[in-house]
Amino acid sequence: MDLGLKGRKAIVCAASKGLGKGCAFALAREGVEVTILARGREALEATAAEIRAATGATVRTLVADITTAEGRAAALAAVPSPDILVNNAGGPPPGDFREWDETAWQAAVNANMVTPIMLMRAVVDGMIARRFGRIVNITSTSVKAPIPTLGLSNGARAGLTGFVAGIARQVVAHNVTINNLLPGPFDTDRLRSVSANLAAKTGRPVEEVREGQRNANPAKRFGNADEFGAFCAFICSAHASYFTGQNVVLDGGAYPGTF
Ligand code: NAP
Repeated sequence: MDLGLKGRKAIVCAASKGLGKGCAFALAREGVEVTILARGREALEATAAEIRAATGATVRTLVADITTAEGRAAALAAVPSPDILVNNAGGPPPGDFREWDETAWQAAVNANMVTPIMLMRAVVDGMIARRFGRIVNITSTSVKAPIPTLGLSNGARAGLTGFVAGIARQVVAHNVTINNLLPGPFDTDRLRSVSANLAAKTGRPVEEVREGQRNANPAKRFGNADEFGAFCAFICSAHASYFTGQNVVLDGGAYPGTF
């Protein structure tokens, strides 16, 4: 299927690794000019080279911390009129809620709620004027079913989800859609660090913990970033203009609800 995205311009945040990289790859395969950003240059340049070699697409890089005002300004200066915005950033650390003081909460809310909202605010009017826009926020299944050790994520991302539910309905008449992709367990550095944390806490070998996590999933495996990216690309496609304000769970069926 041709997704009708050739020549579109995308900003993909936090995309040198993991799920952001998967999204950038899938968009580049569709002929989208992608600008990927991350804080570390080495992995970012390696990923850009990998995507260019595999797809022939134009891939630009930006070393920036997207959770800072300067980082967001640099992203918007690099791509002043994006057609597609994929919001993503590192997830907050796991722990017990008693450990998280006001500073920890402010950091989580800034990274996983305020940052995507500021970027949406900056790009949405241009998208409306051009009558095309696709915004995808990478959140987590924790907004649907809280993960006890990830309280900072449960809370901050729920705030973003509530905001998106409102604003998505205000812009869709202009062919601008805003949706959230909710990953369950995907095999990325982030998941590996969550597994390592659990292993350290329980005194079990990491591979045993990971085997248990895979077996606990109905699909008996972790997801991979390519399949995540393919979903993102479809939601960004020309065919998806009637799809907005949705929270799409990608978790191998782990969420047990009927809906
Ligand atoms: P990952 O493999 O660790 O990759 C994170 C990417 O984000 C890296 O490219 C990293 O590069 C970049 N990044 C992190 N903080 C950044 C910042 N402040 N500014 C710019 N770039 C930044 O993580 P992932 O698994 O893809 O996770 C992506 C998001 O999905 C996270 O918020 C995570 O909590 C959430 N999530 C993941 C899973 C899962 O199973 N993987 C499940 C639910 C939710 P630098 O470090 O060089 O900046």
